[in-house]
Amino acid sequence: MKLSIPGRASATAVVAAATLLTGGSIAGAAPAPAAAAAAPDLPVANVKAHLAQLQSIATANGGNRAHGRAGYKASLDYVKAKLDAAGFTTTVQQFTSGGRTGYNLIADWPGGNTSQVVMAGSHLDSVTAGPGINDNGSGSAAVLETALAVARAGYQPTKHLRFAWWGAEELGMVGSRYYVNSLTTANRSKISGYLNFDMIGSPNPGYFVYDDDPTIEKTFKTYFTGIGVSTEIETEGDGRSDHAPFKSAGIPVGGLFSGADYIKTSAQAAKWGGTAGKAFDACYHSSCDTSSNINDTALDRNADALAYAVWQLSA
Ligand SMILES: [Zn+2]
Repeated sequence: MKLSIPGRASATAVVAAATLLTGGSIAGAAPAPAAAAAAPDLPVANVKAHLAQLQSIATANGGNRAHGRAGYKASLDYVKAKLDAAGFTTTVQQFTSGGRTGYNLIADWPGGNTSQVVMAGSHLDSVTAGPGINDNGSGSAAVLETALAVARAGYQPTKHLRFAWWGAEELGMVGSRYYVNSLTTANRSKISGYLNFDMIGSPNPGYFVYDDDPTIEKTFKTYFTGIGVSTEIETEGDGRSDHAPFKSAGIPVGGLFSGADYIKTSAQAAKWGGTAGKAFDACYHSSCDTSSNINDTALDRNADALAYAVWQLSA
């Protein structure tokens, strides 16, 4: 399908969204810059290949990738190795929670104005009950593939790009809060926006956009409008994921979500397809959240929307 999204693949139009992340705050539009570089269409096969790796890691480590377990550390090592090979500057931040050692992985793409940092992140841990492929292998894999696409394109945006994989989210956003608390006030103020991706491949998917920041929200909506998919405001996970510590620190946040254990309504099924009266993800937090618990179309659309937002908001 030919996309009619400003700033995507066939970018020729001036993209309003790209003007907004200037001078450390989201509010107030600067003069529109020349057309932003075109965001790539991420190959969903690449995203799924990362999910297959995370599934094998869980299978080889007691069926999960939970905080403090071998499956989590192996997941982090997998993501880090990909980023190191692609030219990112990676940092592993260690913390303790529940008497177990946890880790955050931070990856900085060299270049860009470091007083204006655009971040995209996702939690990498699962619950102990299962491998956590939709929650949250889907977000982790899409953030990874976007970072690798930045490297493949040799993308050099005006702003500085940083990607993150959080530990111990399932224990209450422990890793992301640790990161935000470890930042100086000056370094916090350099973060122009934090984009969060927690569950973006739900098997009976919905298309939910966080409404915490009007500019980030508008950027995602522009993407989905361009591919003819309607969205709703995200409510189910409001404040229940890693964007919350950033928001509490006064950093503009946004993100995408495809639904967890809330039930899809008939009105939602009419516009998004899938099954009314059934949970968006009936395998939420359970052993059946495996690599067959993914809707490829939702994963593909959300991964592309992620790349689009990263390109637009960092241009
Ligand atoms: Zn999650």
